[in-house]
Amino acid sequence: MDLQALRKSLQNCPCGHTHDFDLKALEVAAGNVNRVGQILKANGFPTRILLVSDTNELLVSDGILRNLKDNGFFVEMRVYDDMKEAAMTEVDELRALERRVDGVLSVGSGSCNDICRYSSYLENKPFAIFATAPSMDGFASDSAPILKDGFKLSYQCRQPQVIIADTTILAQAPDVLKQAGFGDMMAKYVALADWKIAHYVHGDYYCEKVASLIRKALSEIAALAPYVSGKDERAVKAIMESLVLSGIAMQLTHTSRPASGAEHVVSHFWECKKIERGLFAEYHGRKVGVSTLIIADVYHKLARLDKVEAHEEHIDWEEVKRVYGPGLTPSMMALNSPTITTEIKPSDITDNWDKIRKAIEDEIPPVDELKKLYALAKADTTIESVHVDKQLCDDGLRYHAYMRKRINLTRLLPMLGIDILDVYYGK
Ligand SMILES: [Zn+2]
Ligand SMILES: [Zn+2]
Repeated sequence: MDLQALRKSLQNCPCGHTHDFDLKALEVAAGNVNRVGQILKANGFPTRILLVSDTNELLVSDGILRNLKDNGFFVEMRVYDDMKEAAMTEVDELRALERRVDGVLSVGSGSCNDICRYSSYLENKPFAIFATAPSMDGFASDSAPILKDGFKLSYQCRQPQVIIADTTILAQAPDVLKQAGFGDMMAKYVALADWKIAHYVHGDYYCEKVASLIRKALSEIAALAPYVSGKDERAVKAIMESLVLSGIAMQLTHTSRPASGAEHVVSHFWECKKIERGLFAEYHGRKVGVSTLIIADVYHKLARLDKVEAHEEHIDWEEVKRVYGPGLTPSMMALNSPTITTEIKPSDITDNWDKIRKAIEDEIPPVDELKKLYALAKADTTIESVHVDKQLCDDGLRYHAYMRKRINLTRLLPMLGIDILDVYYGK
């Protein structure tokens, strides 16, 4: 992807903000595993590095170590057996190791990148990624979701300087990971609608140019849906680049709004509850893909309402606390003291209702159309496929919005006297 051209196209943006990003190079091509050293050097990356990976990821990246050594790199390694969750204990461990090197290279995807992103930021060391699967949009993110005391929070960091991927390796990644990347991209349809809605009712900053970048990436992914599952290098390249672009969009706007809306928060709720029960949370993009279908359905049903009556909300916080439980309640309440809806008036919703409906219609394809795309991509569509039971699904839908101090349409429903479950189940 031509990052220079992208940077140039965002100059003098009508939104009035100066858009820039840290990422210097994004190299996605066949055979790149044997060019990692050259690419890093060409971008001024230091040669004394800590390589962080897990056993499987390192195995599929065969040749990377030899290439680095042939190019004069001095490589220290930390290889995990099987990294599933990014936790603060690993961040602390890496920080100690990073004091002996000048840069950090993460070989893998997901959690491995997240612990490197945050630890290298805290240690002020340049950071690069060799991605092994196009499974989520966090590659170019400047924040990292890290698990601490059972609560997953995003910590501010910097973007990587360089992202490298080898399409041959990406294509060989398990289909479930490519489907997860596809699911994480589908979420952007809802994200764009929620972003506009937050702009209308809460005055959140919105940039049409950045939104249109995401829209373009989405149409590309939709066109390639039939090739998501399989070993198609063209499809994995497009997915990978769109995922990276989503991360760039987040940095361009200094928010995650272009990439995540209510569907991500629902998925986070499911994730925290599953982790609390000691269960595998499931890949981010798989859950997000499923929650996207649910929220898209709810939003389209809401968009059919000609008008709404908004009032001050009456939330039974004791009930909310009961559902969150003792482990999650303190962090949740910290985000709701005061809660975000104190910043808006009922008329902010009623006066903007037509615009809210239009945002939904314009940004989110009809659910039948989405389901067709998912079927082509062979992506998950049911809560069962991501191991979420009905109770957890319903709790997530009804209570997720309190996990963030931000406006998504779902957070406004108490002010409309609407129970999301009534909408979803068609009561
Ligand atoms: Zn702009
Ligand atoms: Zn995501």
